[in-house]
Amino acid sequence: MEGEKLKIAVIGGGPGGLMVSYLLDKRASLGVDVIIYEATGRLGGKIVTSHAHCDPRIAFELGAAEFYDYSQLGPDPLRELIAELGLRTSPMRTGGAVFRDRVVRDLEDVRREFGQPTWKALRDFTKLARAEISPAEYYESDWRKDNEDPLARKRFDQYLEEVSDPIARDYIQTLTHSDVACETHQTSASYGLQNYLMDESDYMQLYSIVGGNELLTRELALRTSAQVLLDHAVVSVEQMVGGLYRVTSRNNSAQHTELYDFVVVALPNDCIPSIAWEGQALSEAMRKHHRFYDHPAHYLRVTAVFDRPFWREVMQGEFFMIDAFGGCCLYDESARFENGEHGVLGWLIAGDAALRLGNLDDDVLIKQVVDALPAVLRANSSRLLEARVKRWAKCVNGLPGGFPAREPDSRHRPDPEAHPRLFVVGDYLFDSTLNGVLDSADTVVEWVMELALKAVKDSAGFADSRNTVDRQGGAVVSK
Ligand SMILES: Cc1cc2nc3c(=O)[nH]c(=O)nc-3n(C[C@H](O)[C@H](O)[C@H](O)COP(=O)(O)OP(=O)(O)OC[C@H]3O[C@@H](n4cnc5c(N)ncnc54)[C@H](O)[C@@H]3O)c2cc1C
Repeated sequence: MEGEKLKIAVIGGGPGGLMVSYLLDKRASLGVDVIIYEATGRLGGKIVTSHAHCDPRIAFELGAAEFYDYSQLGPDPLRELIAELGLRTSPMRTGGAVFRDRVVRDLEDVRREFGQPTWKALRDFTKLARAEISPAEYYESDWRKDNEDPLARKRFDQYLEEVSDPIARDYIQTLTHSDVACETHQTSASYGLQNYLMDESDYMQLYSIVGGNELLTRELALRTSAQVLLDHAVVSVEQMVGGLYRVTSRNNSAQHTELYDFVVVALPNDCIPSIAWEGQALSEAMRKHHRFYDHPAHYLRVTAVFDRPFWREVMQGEFFMIDAFGGCCLYDESARFENGEHGVLGWLIAGDAALRLGNLDDDVLIKQVVDALPAVLRANSSRLLEARVKRWAKCVNGLPGGFPAREPDSRHRPDPEAHPRLFVVGDYLFDSTLNGVLDSADTVVEWVMELALKAVKDSAGFADSRNTVDRQGGAVVSK
């Protein structure tokens, strides 16, 4: 069969790479050979559902926490995919915030705890934000319109300066910091506002997968017909005569080389420079691509198992915000998993604080984080049984889509002229979420299919061009 079917290399076995391979299986009527290269020993990327050492029945998320439900606004491909895979979901609701040691569940609590001026400033801000981005605009976001929007040109810190009440300003920052994963000067007013509005229940509902978010990538992996190469970090990609690509991967100390018709790079932007993009045109295109989206943002996750979920006496819901570390989301992991008597609390620390704390040894860091619990919860910190740290520096994007936003073709093809068969897929091209990765995978699969069908119709198909290069070494295109 080799030489007859279209060969596609997918670099990266995270959600993006798995979605590409799943969609190719579904849509590729002409048949394709897909090979997924994954640098580590597991598929799933930043979706990680883990278990406690003290009791393996205790589960929690160490990576992606929640999914965003757009189904009330229109078609929602991620929700549809999750249903198609036979997975059940459960809603994630906010319990509010503990801000300056006061419990705030709604605007009325703000008035009671912080007074009329703060309440008014917050109410006006929310009204303005809702007027700036309606739910429909949020859902339908169009890159051309986005580029004309003054909010896309303004930094979020500049926008917040217009909030006259300092307590209200601080509160908004607390609510958004975990979502944007960077500081307010590192993102746009529009991205900041979108993340603020996401906490409004009529804007967006959140959900997780029953049994763990990692079931998504596990189910995708089970269904893929792709050959999966674990522990194969791709080290170089090179275009050959005839337009084929030579992909070289490292497995322990051995190098492995293979030729492909198409390459789909399903990596986070920060991993792109770790590959040698050979040849002047390709290396220049990938350097430019990386630079355009180079807005690194950071997470640090600390997950602690306690003998009981003591916080529920104060805070309900699947998550709540606290103002430690510039604004941090606390997930009640035991609300979404059957964790018996135990309570599991997951800190999602973001931005500069994630980098700063990430430098500390785990034990020191865990102590600092638990000690920083709000006063209403701190008395129970001695109930800690076990804690886990997961560092996610540079793993997400603080200004997804970049600015100005690009049209879908150049977004997904770093060099459409010289490298029409090399694509990129990633959340950083859209909104830093799993919904965005799926949109991206969908766009790329459509193009691959279109080009593949065209090639089959042409007399000089891909198989022919594959035969013009020597499979062992091949002739390199010199550009
Ligand atoms: C802490 C945290 C919380 C998050 N929370 C949410 C959330 O609540 N909701 C949401 O929608 N999104 C969330 N995200 C974002 C979400 O995780 C990403 O959108 C998603 O993982 C992106 O998928 P990906 O496949 O593009 O990249 P990744 O998940 O990063 O997967 C890339 C894969 O490529 C592999 N790789 C890297 N280099 C190479 C190489 N040279 N060769 C081969 N393989 C390589 C990696 O090992 C990895 O497996 C969160 C992210 C983090 C870090």
